[in-house]
Amino acid sequence: MNAPRVRLRPEIEKIQPYRQGKAAADDAFKLSSNENPFEPIPAVLAAIAASSVNRYPDGSAIRLRTALANRFSLTPENVHVGAGSASILSQLITAAAGPGDEVVYSWRSFEAYPGFVAVAGATSVTVPNTAEHRHDLPAMAAAVTERTRVVIVCSPNNPTGAIVTRDEFTAFMALIPETVLVLLDEAYIEFVTDPAAVRGPELLAGYPNLVVLRTFSKAYGLAGLRVGYALGAEYVLDAARASAIPLSVIEPAQRAAVASIEHEAELLERVASLAVLRDEIWASLVEQGWHVPRPHGNFVWLATGEHTAWAAGVFESHGIVVRALGTDGLRVSIGEHESVEKLLKASAEVVRKLR
Ligand code: PMP
Repeated sequence: MNAPRVRLRPEIEKIQPYRQGKAAADDAFKLSSNENPFEPIPAVLAAIAASSVNRYPDGSAIRLRTALANRFSLTPENVHVGAGSASILSQLITAAAGPGDEVVYSWRSFEAYPGFVAVAGATSVTVPNTAEHRHDLPAMAAAVTERTRVVIVCSPNNPTGAIVTRDEFTAFMALIPETVLVLLDEAYIEFVTDPAAVRGPELLAGYPNLVVLRTFSKAYGLAGLRVGYALGAEYVLDAARASAIPLSVIEPAQRAAVASIEHEAELLERVASLAVLRDEIWASLVEQGWHVPRPHGNFVWLATGEHTAWAAGVFESHGIVVRALGTDGLRVSIGEHESVEKLLKASAEVVRKLR
């Protein structure tokens, strides 16, 4: 006789745990997690070293929230911080959507969205990207029903790299009921150089149902410390705070994030150099014959379709570890300068065989 099993929620048992980008062998480049290749600057290292860890962190993260509030001309009440913006996404989805409710987002987009929705007990409604790998905002607006509680817009979109423009976004917001929470996920915004791109903080005053999510993981290079933030209406962020696990943003993360804001200019120079490298890689890929959408984050999207697993293997044989996403494509992060030659050798080999 089988031993009795604990009764778990069936929708949770169905969820695939979040799949992290593959680790790389010592001589390979890990371009599978959109990480920043730069080590922290000395001021950030000093802030981390000054942290105490025998005490709990400040649960209200007031210094960091104040620094962010000043940065965006808001008040600390309009700022929430979490252990990565992923935590905040989960908190906000949980706060707004439960069983019977729907969450609308584009697909492909960030791989963690479906899991967060399922954990909340809500239902995902996905809208396919356009043929140019962009959000189909009119179709997303049309997918909103009476059951919709949250809509997620990701710009630049992970993994396709496309942006939503400011005009597209405001036209979209005009179609969304004000009772629906709109999450604008801007995890990669600092890499965007296109002036037409939407920038959420500028729009907060006009849209009370908008929350903007950003992170210190990508442009600021603090992925390992887990710290992200949300900007929006106080009562909405209070609901996220209520849904959070207490004290999960640790003191080294809070201090490193404050130091990063204080030394932002220096960090953004690195971001600019990565954006230049991204544009160079994109130009080389187009020259090789790839049809790749213009990338706006710190990664490029190669739509390798059913050949994706094979193509990932080719990259690996060249010492480049990439993120293979089902039978859709490969996402390749912009990393060390030294990785570029290998990356382009691998992409040339793949595109030759795909043609
Ligand atoms: N949003 C998007 C679009 C992402 O790609 C990621 C990380 N891959 C996150 C949110 C979460 O980032 P973090 O939790 O490190 O802030």
